[in-house]
Amino acid sequence: MDTEAAAPEVVRDFIRDIVRGDLEGGKYRQVVTRFPPEPNGYLHIGHAKSIALNFGIAEEFAGVCHLRFDDTNPVREEQEYIDSIEEDVRWLGFDWGERRFFASDYFDRLYDWAEGMINAGLAYVDDQTRDEIRASRGTLTEPGRNSPFRDRPREENLDLFRRMRAGEFPDGTRVLRARIDMAAPNINLRDPVMYRILHAHHQRTGDKWCIYPSYDYAHGQSDAIEAITHSICTLEFEDHRPLYDWFIAHLPVPSQPRQFEFARLNLTYTLLSKRVLTRLVQEGHVAGWDDPRMPTLAGLRRRGVPPASVREFVRRIGVAKANSVVDVGMLEFCIREELNRCAERRMAVLRPIKVVIENYPEGESETVEAVNHPDDPKAGSRELRFGRELYIERDDFMENPPKKFFRLSPGTEVRLRYAYFIRCTGVVRDDAGEIVELRCSYDPLSRGGNSPDGRKVKATLHWVSAADSEKAEVRLYNPLFSNPEPDAKNFTADLNADSLEIISDARLEPDLNVGASNAPVQFERLGYFVRDRDWRPDRPVFNRTIGLRDSFAKAVAKS
Ligand code: ATP
Ligand code: MG
Repeated sequence: MDTEAAAPEVVRDFIRDIVRGDLEGGKYRQVVTRFPPEPNGYLHIGHAKSIALNFGIAEEFAGVCHLRFDDTNPVREEQEYIDSIEEDVRWLGFDWGERRFFASDYFDRLYDWAEGMINAGLAYVDDQTRDEIRASRGTLTEPGRNSPFRDRPREENLDLFRRMRAGEFPDGTRVLRARIDMAAPNINLRDPVMYRILHAHHQRTGDKWCIYPSYDYAHGQSDAIEAITHSICTLEFEDHRPLYDWFIAHLPVPSQPRQFEFARLNLTYTLLSKRVLTRLVQEGHVAGWDDPRMPTLAGLRRRGVPPASVREFVRRIGVAKANSVVDVGMLEFCIREELNRCAERRMAVLRPIKVVIENYPEGESETVEAVNHPDDPKAGSRELRFGRELYIERDDFMENPPKKFFRLSPGTEVRLRYAYFIRCTGVVRDDAGEIVELRCSYDPLSRGGNSPDGRKVKATLHWVSAADSEKAEVRLYNPLFSNPEPDAKNFTADLNADSLEIISDARLEPDLNVGASNAPVQFERLGYFVRDRDWRPDRPVFNRTIGLRDSFAKAVAKS
């Protein structure tokens, strides 16, 4: 590799510019960021943008990045999600070291601070129902109305809050609210809920708590406790920033993080809302969180997408403050680029038709040499067995070809990759009249695929030997949604009925099926493939990661 291409490129965006300025101006000695997932689902490619930003900034500026689980809602959160999030962040190539935290680590401190706010007259217990609270919040144009409980005496608030914690009241009967301003133009400042009663078991704190802090109350304080310097989040939290700043200004927190917002990643043909992804799994539209059609990192991994192409994709799209939708073709480009570089070439036939070479001696065979990677001599070569009976792709033959069809048809000659020129001399039909076998002759002087006399052929086909090849299941994936901008509210209407096609009798060259390699391969002329986790020695299963060309977008553009 030439050194110019290997030189690290300086990434620039408005958040990195702020960080750089803060470090150069001496505002901070070390930058501290965090990636703060809520463990209520698997991570998706949008999260990869946030992960790469937070961990990337820490790496580039010699800082640190925390992994913090925002586990404030025990009802929707599970250990399975915590484990998957850790696996996915590591897979992407980032490391939090010892710095793994949980918002639940701070429940005691958050509780004490809430009592402090009650004592300072900055919080009160509200007995209104959820609906009453919602109805009195006002709108963008109308101010909210004060709760009848807003001016409760301090002692009564403290007593009720402690009894909420002690478990004396059923779920939903009372909340603790910050006492800010019901007429504030920013609705987030209209006495937001800090604690709610929830008699639910928490995966880390067990049954210790039956009141849980709201995300808005826990999030900023967790950042302050961890001395996060730059709290980076997506744009929908921009309007929450004044509230976070208000809490920080009124609590004895050890540091003052500053929040910066960037645009979420949106992708065509894809939905990235956890609510939708959860429903896709729960309602059985896909086979699970790691279904290769899912935009989850677990799905991309199972599909065979290398982590380097996800990192390259998020580097290319950059970080900005305006929401936009990125063409999924950009992700596919990054996947192809990386796989083209790293995947060895092999031969496989997805929809086989038998070829019998009539002038090849019966009972004999020979080996031909095939290179493993055209751009990388170090990848070496392998030997393939060539003989009288082979398989080629059914699509590569046409009995009555149109003018521009250059592959095999009666009378025409093509090259078999690495092997010989063959000419089709006839076909064999079954009782229904369907062609089940092709009869061919070969030119023994064309060994290696070289023309013996300057004669030209217009096509080179892939093939496997009938005797040596192995049967396999191959799963082909297409986009999960047929609409470039699927409707998140009614997503089932936009599901692509052809998102999965299973081929049960593909034929692979034999070496593909030994060992335990999960390395990606290119099946020549077909695309990039990887073993699925359902693979067994006696029942090979491969996933198509991606085709060689962008055929889907073209098909859609034509239709
Ligand atoms: P939901 O889909 O319900 O909104 P979420 O995506 O916000 O959930 P979190 O676990 O809270 O889920 O996300 C963790 C972090 O990842 C947050 O900082 C969030 O801003 C960021 N993030 C989530 N989705 C995207 C996205 N599409 N693009 C960039 N960052 C994202
Ligand atoms: Mg969130």
